[in-house]
Amino acid sequence: MRKAINAEWFVPTRWYNILPDLPESLPPYLKPNGEVVTPQDFEVLFAKELVRQEFSQDRWIPIPSEVRDIYLTWRPTPLIRAKRLEEVLKTPARIYYKFEGISPPGSHKPNTAVAQLYYIAKEGVGRVTTETGAGQWGSSVAFAAAFFQVKATIYMVRASYLQKPYRRVLMELWGAEVIPSPSERTESGRKFLAEDPNHPGSLGIAISEAVEDAVKTGSKYVLGSVLNHVLIHQTVIGLEALEQIRQFGDYPDYVVGACGGGSSFSGLFWPFYYEKKVGKSEKDVKFLAVEPAAVPTLTRGEYLYDFGDTAGLTPLIKMYTIGHLYKPPPIHAGGLRYHGCAPTLSLLVKHGEVNAVAYGQREVFEAAKLFANTEGFVPAPESAHAVKAVVELALEAKRSGRETVILFNLSGHGLLDLSAYDDFLTGAMQEAVPTSEELARCLAEVRKLTG
Ligand SMILES: *Cc1c(COP(=O)(O)O)cnc(C)c1O
Repeated sequence: MRKAINAEWFVPTRWYNILPDLPESLPPYLKPNGEVVTPQDFEVLFAKELVRQEFSQDRWIPIPSEVRDIYLTWRPTPLIRAKRLEEVLKTPARIYYKFEGISPPGSHKPNTAVAQLYYIAKEGVGRVTTETGAGQWGSSVAFAAAFFQVKATIYMVRASYLQKPYRRVLMELWGAEVIPSPSERTESGRKFLAEDPNHPGSLGIAISEAVEDAVKTGSKYVLGSVLNHVLIHQTVIGLEALEQIRQFGDYPDYVVGACGGGSSFSGLFWPFYYEKKVGKSEKDVKFLAVEPAAVPTLTRGEYLYDFGDTAGLTPLIKMYTIGHLYKPPPIHAGGLRYHGCAPTLSLLVKHGEVNAVAYGQREVFEAAKLFANTEGFVPAPESAHAVKAVVELALEAKRSGRETVILFNLSGHGLLDLSAYDDFLTGAMQEAVPTSEELARCLAEVRKLTG
């Protein structure tokens, strides 16, 4: 069997929340003056129900039927055995991938966008703001906002706005307003434009603009990764995968995923972590996060309190970070160009419950090409990081002769990233890895924040 049956009953009716099952409680979010951020503080930015979920200690959170109904247009997503990839690698490993790229925007991101927009519309809010890098998150917000008749303003990193028009077109088709960031619309944007009128922008700056806009206009802000409520919504991925891989009569030794803010990987591995925690796992399953060598948050960063954005408008979050002032080089995996990482995932890495590896972009695209030529799907550049790690694990299984079972998240397709593949095929793709001095400088600034 190559593909698990796509029956509606696979789609869960509740999300899983890892908070009660963490090895220690999550350090609180802080204001720059050291005060703890309260749920009331968060309600300025986020819908009330989302704030409740953010701090909830409930292990299970019901999925509203309106949200699940929309999920059913593309869920359950298929779990596929990568048999031709196994054959080409001549590995005894069995490789499975959960393919989130079949959603209308092409990634896992609508799993949370639909949920967030549902609660926002239910609370009577008519407009949301957000940021987007290459456009995966922005297009998911535009898509979800269209279902609930909510207006969406999306600050898009200027470099991507200019170089990658097709995601912008998709957002505009779904009715969103797209603004290149930094922009004249906000104080933060004007500040960065004054420094450099041709500023290429960054995810951190776009977050600053979207947050400022939401606070000043009484709109709500929606976030695509990092925070607990976002990761909770992504657990539909892992809950489905648990049932689906059992249909194959199998269970993973490794669960692998690319890590930007950590939402798609967490969505896949949390339910397996839960089974391990309560003694239901059939194996001592290991979890592996994969990041770009250009933005090595988990592998070369430190576990510190840092801002979520560049201008310092968000609360301080205890997480692995390479510093909010770090300028990620223009690599093609836009969704992985983030200086920090989800606080839950950071805590699990600190406790050694999750491991991390980093790869350069050429070797990642090489693995993506192999995947496209064996399995057919073109991976999103972000997802391709997971593919690279899986190929390495499969080759290791070949050397040791073990029938390792590997499950990974193919978090999106790359059909709107073909210019990146073109750069790869023509040899124009550059590597960019920060020096130790550069990281040390960025981290020194972060340490100053909490003394
Ligand atoms: C945004 C994105 C990611 C990275 O974000 P996470 O929150 O770490 O999941 C990974 N893959 C795809 C396809 C994305 O669009």
